[in-house]
Amino acid sequence: MKVNFKCKKCGSNILEEVLGDVTKYSAISAIELLDNGYAAIEYGNSNDENGDFIVYQCASCGEEVDGCYNENNLFEYLKENNMLGEN
Ligand SMILES: [Zn+2]
Repeated sequence: MKVNFKCKKCGSNILEEVLGDVTKYSAISAIELLDNGYAAIEYGNSNDENGDFIVYQCASCGEEVDGCYNENNLFEYLKENNMLGEN
């Protein structure tokens, strides 16, 4: 179902999941030596693996979604607060 999140504090619509200790794999598509002497990499696609759940929160103000520690908690929260759409 589509998530129609609305932050109770700031009204923003983007809900995010925060993970710590993530292993990230990024394809390297280009590298360039900058004028300041540092080389800069340009990345292509990336994948994330593992990671420890930290919190569900508003992407705008960081207000945490209370009482949600897994997917099922979050589903119930969104359902109870009428934040789930049709597709
Ligand atoms: Zn917010």
